[in-house]
Amino acid sequence: MRILISNDDGYLAPGINALAEALAAVADIVVVAPDSNRSGASNSLSLDRPLSVSKAANGFYFVNGTPTDCVHIALTGMLDVRPDLVVSGINNGQNMGDDTLYSGTVAAATEAFLFGIPAIAFSQVHSGWAEVESAARVARDIVLRRFDGVDAPFLLNVNIPNLPYEQMGPLTATRLGRRHQSEPVIRGQDPRGREIFWIGAPGACRDAGEGTDFHATAQGRVSVTPLQVDLTHREQLALLRSSLE
Ligand code: MN
Repeated sequence: MRILISNDDGYLAPGINALAEALAAVADIVVVAPDSNRSGASNSLSLDRPLSVSKAANGFYFVNGTPTDCVHIALTGMLDVRPDLVVSGINNGQNMGDDTLYSGTVAAATEAFLFGIPAIAFSQVHSGWAEVESAARVARDIVLRRFDGVDAPFLLNVNIPNLPYEQMGPLTATRLGRRHQSEPVIRGQDPRGREIFWIGAPGACRDAGEGTDFHATAQGRVSVTPLQVDLTHREQLALLRSSLE
């Protein structure tokens, strides 16, 4: 099995190191990741400048671009052979509910999915890298399952509690929850007296009921959500059609 690994925290992050180490034991891996932390980059492509690829001493490739750039470049120009699977992460913190729209971790996996390759995004529920080795073992378990019953290609969003491997709850299929709208921006002044704005924290959970990613991980379970890319609102489409007639 050939696996392409990327992330949004950058190629030096402990999460991608742990993931690469865990997967190198069971697959041929190649790592192509951003040169710096690009969390929140979503599905952005860099179209205003050329990108360069460099190779680190440990064999990881790093790109001066976004997570989506990394996977796009790897799949369309860098790699001689198409990977069987693309994984992203392990992210420093959860990507649940509305987070998935902003996440560069999920975006890297989504880019592969758009190219018809099965893809999995991995995140730890809490940031700070506690139990990251344990999360990497869970990621390897999930990769080895191959999800034979699921239609390929799939796009899975996995959130892993920061627990020791032995205390980790079972894999649980979930849907995305929802958050309240995010906290307001922080207003301040830069050292030269100009007004600045910092994007605020994500909002608290609004829909975190049974069946959601929030609910599963709060119980110590590993949340696995199948994602799709089509954002069409089917019910409103019918209503819109009749209102436009
Ligand atoms: Mn991140």
